[in-house]
This record gives sequence, structure tokens and C-alpha cells, in this order.
Amino acid sequence: MAVVESVRGPVELGNLGQTLMHEHVFVLSTEHVQNYGSDWWDEEARVADAITKLNALYAKGIHTIVDPTVWGLGRYIPRIQRIAAQTPVNIIVATGLYVYEELPQQYAYRGPGLMIDIPEPMVTDFSRDITEGIAGTAVKAAFLKCCMETAEPTPGVERIARAIARTHLETGAPITVHTSGPHQGGRTAVRIFTEEGVDLSKVMIGHAGDSNDLDYLTELADQGVLLGMDRFGLDLFNPGAERIKTIAALASRGYAPSMVLAHDANCFIDYFGAAHDEVRAAAAPNWHYEHITDDVLPALLDAGVTQAQIDTMMVENPVRYFTRGGAA
Ligand SMILES: [Zn+2]
Repeated sequence: MAVVESVRGPVELGNLGQTLMHEHVFVLSTEHVQNYGSDWWDEEARVADAITKLNALYAKGIHTIVDPTVWGLGRYIPRIQRIAAQTPVNIIVATGLYVYEELPQQYAYRGPGLMIDIPEPMVTDFSRDITEGIAGTAVKAAFLKCCMETAEPTPGVERIARAIARTHLETGAPITVHTSGPHQGGRTAVRIFTEEGVDLSKVMIGHAGDSNDLDYLTELADQGVLLGMDRFGLDLFNPGAERIKTIAALASRGYAPSMVLAHDANCFIDYFGAAHDEVRAAAAPNWHYEHITDDVLPALLDAGVTQAQIDTMMVENPVRYFTRGGAA
């Protein structure tokens, strides 16, 4: 039986249902909350709030979220386990590193040819998360995450991307890469992953939907990657109406099998401190888990996208992405 690991354990791929392919539960730096969080972080209230939001999402028909919260975004699995135990939503978690420029010092001195000359420790760490579980929990990561924010990666970012690629080759886990639409970092990611021998059908170019450049998007899709049309509600990066137009144009050209949908939303993000709730209500009122179901899918249908194409993007493509070695 083909399965994918979730926080509650393996889920049959056929039971994923409608899936949002890039949502966080929390973006919350451990150091930030431990040192400066006393006026804005209430653990019990935020956990309860996340359970409420996920249950509401489930009631709308979304049964799975794919959460790429890794080191750099505040991954803390015991908190997610508490939440997963109290919602029917499947939460699929990741391993990897969220870094735009500088390699963490914790990897700078360890690795092939470095002061502590050992095999690439990122591959060791990421692989353990996938095969044994994360940080002593039984929860296994099901995919890999890295960033390609600029067209020209720093040496640290490139080392991370190559470690992600090598972990993919060792474990078969698929990859999600954060990219910047304006810098078209998807091209760089595809080049590096191709050099490393990655199966590009197991690569999702995150935030591709911030771009409306159809030449860029079709060039990526033609190489076999999935396009993450994954920031609905974040109009500051690309207005929702433009996102919908771009998806409709790509779907009409036969690219529904190359797209997945999401909001890149979360229940709490620590970037705004105590102003969290007000900032979100004012700057991004649609940046929440239910915007796609409530508003985007009807708009896509109005724009000529078919229900079958929506099912392809929300159900079939996620299953294909998480299918290992043709085992489905
Ligand atoms: Zn994200």
C-alpha cells in the first residue's frame, strides 16, 4: 500500500483527499519566543486556535495540509503532535533548512574538507528525520525544503541545495524549494537539482505563483517540476486576481497536471510581535486556510478552469508528488 508519513503516522495516498500543498501551522522562532515572547505568545491559546482553524478547514473538505516549516521557520514537532491529535486534518511535515543567504554556523565547520572532516552533516540530519523520525519523536518528515531566494545563490545556499538533492537521492523524499518570483530562483534550483541527478517530477517550485510570466512558468513546467501556486491571500506579492488569471491561462494550455494550490498561510507567525492580529487583518485579510475553498475555487471556475482540472491540482498532483519510486 502506497503511503506518506504524516504527524500521526502513515496515511494511504488514496486518503489524502483535497490537499493544500504549502501551509504552515506556526512560524515561530524558538529563540525569539523564549527571549521576547512573553507579551505576545500564549501557548495554550494558540494551540487551541490552531485546532479550531484546522477543524474548520476539514469541515470545508480539505483533508491534508503539507507544512514546510523547517529549521529557520521554527519547526517544533511536539507542539504539532498535540494539534494533530485533536484534528482529523493530516499534517505532513518536512526537513531541510530555510536560509536565504548564510549557512548556519552549526554546519559551517563540519563537512567534507572542513575543520571537522565528516560526510555532509546536513544529509545525515535530514535523512535521519525522514527514515527514523524527528528529534526523538516517531514523526517522520515526508519531504525536503530549501530556499533559492536569489538567482545567484551564496555558497552556503548552494551547499544546502546540494545536500537537499543528495538526501532526495538517498531517501526518495520529494523536494519543495522556496523561490522568489521576481528573481526567478526556480531556474537556479532546476539547474542545481539537474546537476545532482534529482528526479524533477519530485520537485515543487514554491511560490511560482508569485510570477505571472508564462514563459518562465511553462519553461519550468516543461522540465517536469510542479509549480506551487501557493500564496493565495498574499496579495502584496501578487494580487489574487492576477494569480487566478495566470492559473487559468496555464490550465487552458494543458498545465493543470503541473500546478498545486495553497496559501502559505499559518495560524500564527512571529514576524509582527504583539501586532500580529491587527497587522494581518489590515494587510492580508484573506491570508488564511479557507480562502481557496471559499473564494479562489469559485473564481477559477468562473475563469474557465474545469472541476476536473481543480481535482487534478488539489488531489491527483499531491498524490503523484508523494508517490515513491512508482509504487502507487
Ligand atoms: Zn512557506
